[in-house]
Amino acid sequence: MLKRDADRGPQSIALPKALFARPAKEDEIAPIRETILAKLALSVGKNPATASPRDWYMAASLAARDRIVHSWIEANRAIRKGNSKRVYYLSLEFLLGRLLGDVLHNLGLTETFRAALGDLGMDLDELKAAEPDAALGNGGLGRLAACLVESMATLGIPAYGYGIRYDHGLFRQVIKGGVQQEYPETWLSFGNPWEFERPEVIYDIHFGGSVQAASTAGGARVAIWQPAETIEAVAYDVPVVGWRGEHVNPLRLWSARAVDPLRLDAFNSGDHVGALTEQVRAEAISKVLYPSDATAAGQELRLRQEYFFVSASLQDLVRRHIRTYGDIRSLPDKASIQLNDTHPSIAVAELMRILVDLEHVGWDQAWDITRATFSYTNHTLLPEALETWPIPLFERLLPRHMQIIYLINAHHLEAVRQAHPGDERLLASVSMIDENHGRRVRMGHLAFLGSHRVNGVSALHTELMKETVFGDLHRLFPGRVVNKTNGITFRRWLHQANPGLTALLCEACGEELMDEPAAIARAAALAGDNAFHERLSEVRLANKVALARVIRERLDIRVNPHALFDVHVKRIHEYKRQLLNILETIALYDAIRAQPTRNWFPRVKIFAGKAAASYSEAKTIIRLAHDVAAIVNNDPSVRDLLKVVFLPNYNVSLAEAIIPAADLSEQISTAGMEASGTGNMKFALNGALTIGTLDGANIEIREHVGDDNIFIFGLRANEVAERHRRGLDAMGDIAASPMLAEVLDAVAGGAFSGGDRDRYAHLVGIVKHHDRFLVAADFDSYYLAQRMVDEAWRNPRRWWRSSVLNTANMGWFSSDRTIREYAEDVWHVPARGSRVQPN
Ligand SMILES: *Cc1c(COP(=O)(O)O)cnc(C)c1O
Repeated sequence: MLKRDADRGPQSIALPKALFARPAKEDEIAPIRETILAKLALSVGKNPATASPRDWYMAASLAARDRIVHSWIEANRAIRKGNSKRVYYLSLEFLLGRLLGDVLHNLGLTETFRAALGDLGMDLDELKAAEPDAALGNGGLGRLAACLVESMATLGIPAYGYGIRYDHGLFRQVIKGGVQQEYPETWLSFGNPWEFERPEVIYDIHFGGSVQAASTAGGARVAIWQPAETIEAVAYDVPVVGWRGEHVNPLRLWSARAVDPLRLDAFNSGDHVGALTEQVRAEAISKVLYPSDATAAGQELRLRQEYFFVSASLQDLVRRHIRTYGDIRSLPDKASIQLNDTHPSIAVAELMRILVDLEHVGWDQAWDITRATFSYTNHTLLPEALETWPIPLFERLLPRHMQIIYLINAHHLEAVRQAHPGDERLLASVSMIDENHGRRVRMGHLAFLGSHRVNGVSALHTELMKETVFGDLHRLFPGRVVNKTNGITFRRWLHQANPGLTALLCEACGEELMDEPAAIARAAALAGDNAFHERLSEVRLANKVALARVIRERLDIRVNPHALFDVHVKRIHEYKRQLLNILETIALYDAIRAQPTRNWFPRVKIFAGKAAASYSEAKTIIRLAHDVAAIVNNDPSVRDLLKVVFLPNYNVSLAEAIIPAADLSEQISTAGMEASGTGNMKFALNGALTIGTLDGANIEIREHVGDDNIFIFGLRANEVAERHRRGLDAMGDIAASPMLAEVLDAVAGGAFSGGDRDRYAHLVGIVKHHDRFLVAADFDSYYLAQRMVDEAWRNPRRWWRSSVLNTANMGWFSSDRTIREYAEDVWHVPARGSRVQPN
């Protein structure tokens, strides 16, 4: 029997009343109760006596959905009447998470639904937990898309998100004996109450075939694409509800379908499998999300996915434009298209094709329209993540687009030649065709050239873009590259994830905080207030107790909620350096055993994250975390001063449970490699202190929270670049750090793998001889920074002061601010302004 002392926590803690949540509206409780019952009977087909929590979740969601539809239709009418410019956000990923809580919160109906369900003997929180995560994304890039569309709706910007309705989102991670296994995720298997199928919104998508030249009646030459294959894209709309339900935008996701679902001739002649092959091939396109993060997926099906959703989205928005305004030439005045990374960048060639081949606009004018319409967000500088496609594949799948890309490139290179005669190096560098790696199309160059704005996602990342990947293009087109530091939506990552903290902050800052993230700055006045610290620590403890319960239920490991919760959760990647953290964990374990009487404070190291299925080093890192946990957690000489846990299947819902319980946030990527990070923002907002490198948005977080309230260590981006020039052998670093040498010897010698020396030979070899991610070089500096964390934790006054100053200074990292910047500098659309001045 496990002792259940962790359970005692929440009952003994008086949580502040959640005064920010709009109270239940008495006159609405009864109608909502009746609607839920009607949905349960008429739409779900169950009666209350036999309905499962999932059935109730369905019924409640359908009842909530009814509430959205009216404002949705109203929003649409207003946009049409006002002839407003629309923003189209194209992204191959939307990592939405659960939606019921989001919708109810933004509609201000959480407490009303809670009361209505309570009357029916049901618990709203239990229902919420029955919803599967919509995991149509891998990590930060997809989660950013989700935060940004929520902020667009909140700021009343008429916008569409466009993406793919994957049947299977990101795989479910199961760990067996420390080894990651991937299982298909089936979020749609019980139906999705948040989508509206639009069977009338269907477009033909073409692939392959050939291009013929022809002449129009007027004698102009035109290209005619005769495709070999056609499939259909069917629209599904998910409503995106803005804060207070004042505005609703659609997220339009495309599903692939065969034109002829069944070849009856084949079926009738007995070939039952062959009769379905076309359907299988067509529907493969929206079957599954590619599970790669920070690497290019690189396979034919991926290119088919990209063109599929781009073509459907452009047909949809062009049709809307022409229906409303009659003339394609005014497109840039009425539409801005944002490309989230290069995945949708084929849109540049597709719009050119629509303009030139279908609408008969002259080439130069078409190119002006295209550039004025598109803008592109770059997300990474890692060479392995820069998307390129082999020309033979491209040509076979999209022959007309290949011609258009060659033409764009020819015009572009001609202009460069005139401006910089004889500079062959420059020509090769800025060409859309990479001639060095077997002739490939550079999708980043295509997106850059086809856009009027290209943005990085943090100040450092944008500067590095100008120096590295887009150095030459930036010099040719100065002013095109701009910065738009990422943000997070406070509705999900503060209000919903951490109601206890939100209630305290509302007391401290006023309820305007709910509408204006900038108002959070007022909390700084309480940074030195002991009573406020006391209440914050009670909220944190309650969150930690809740997480401790999750850890016990899922892993059967008991952790002390009074320990320092040291949290490293994100995709597993060498550049994110979970390995550095694990090696430091081993060093700390050794130190505790060597000096058992030192005044150590208990620490729990919490890891979570998925590795790309094909990324073997990342999977080995997961295994090492488990091997180290098994040794450390079961060593009686550690006396629970150190625990290591790896929570499986990291997703948005797990993040919402983990982040509010964190004391320390690990943001320790190799400097220059994390474009921005948004996890870092979620933690700091919730009051965790950051231990991190000067990378991505960590730099801006430091500027906002102040040097004294963040633990910075390690090489800087320019020093990392210098190390890369010098060579990656780390033997010098290791020789200079006896502690690291000992840790690596232990891992390589099988100390954590039952004597198996093979298991980690490759991983240790990388650190020693090809240390691209500078694990060895940063080790000592990281270890020291962790001991500074120990020092700070010993002094609660200091710790909580820093915690308050983190939360109070995170207002700028609201995705509302990010969207206002895009609206002003990139899209040129009005957005609801800041309503409140901080302080
Ligand atoms: C925020 C978030 C991310 C991004 O985290 P980083 O630390 O910025 O890499 C990834 N996955 C999920 C589920 C998230 O919520």
